[in-house]
Amino acid sequence: MKKTYKALIFDIQSFSIQDGPGIRITVFLKGCPLQCSWCHNPEGIRFEQQQWVREQKTGKHIALKPLPVGKHMTTEEVMEEINKEVPFFDESGGGVTVSGGEPLSHEEFTFELLKKCKEQYIHTCVDTSGYARWKVFEKLLPVTDMFLYDLKIADPKEHLKHTGKDNTEILKNLYKLNKTGKEMTVRIPLVVTITDTQKNIEGLINILDKLEKPAPIELLPFHNIAKKKYKNLNKEYMFDNANNFPVKKAHEIQQVFLNHFENVSVRD
Ligand code: SF4
Repeated sequence: MKKTYKALIFDIQSFSIQDGPGIRITVFLKGCPLQCSWCHNPEGIRFEQQQWVREQKTGKHIALKPLPVGKHMTTEEVMEEINKEVPFFDESGGGVTVSGGEPLSHEEFTFELLKKCKEQYIHTCVDTSGYARWKVFEKLLPVTDMFLYDLKIADPKEHLKHTGKDNTEILKNLYKLNKTGKEMTVRIPLVVTITDTQKNIEGLINILDKLEKPAPIELLPFHNIAKKKYKNLNKEYMFDNANNFPVKKAHEIQQVFLNHFENVSVRD
């Protein structure tokens, strides 16, 4: 009997316009080997199912209800959700993005899901931290049209300090993936005093300068949208009182990158 794979899915977002071209559906897989201090999907970091509390309003009364985060779903069940959106993909040049968490930590599920998409000629994107064995990238290459590749911190020790892992494998995979010629956008989070320092920006430019095929760069300014999620998870958040990343500064950094690379955008 043919094996079917299950994964813990913590969100499926329809009409997503920020995770690849066109209108997309983004599937968020629970579990990530990194622990970035600024992560805006803290409910996607742990691999196992968790509980969080959500507010439930009944009239004027607000009660805190414990709810599970994540639902085990098979690739067939996720495809049922995807198939509802296909007309929007066709209209907009969109498709499916697998995100997380880290989709490459769910190798078999991600492969099977993307394969099913490709069998239906649906455009596929993988949003990754790059932290995985190269073998996993190799496996996903034939079923992935495009990678959204996060690049956060240039210095390996600083990377380790702020994400829990150093960036050796991430950089190796970045260069290898680039060599394959596969379409990729490099996404850089802008986080005050962590990724936006002159030293880090220069380090990232150095890294990107060595790519054989220049990749579009997207700067992602930090937004303090995850505060409530941390509270609901009862998890400490070092950005509890942080403001959104200043728009002016994001555009100044964009200019610095534009002095070296042609295609650099800032996400609104
Ligand atoms: S790699 Fe992404 S999902 Fe994983 S902890 Fe960092 S920001 Fe969160």
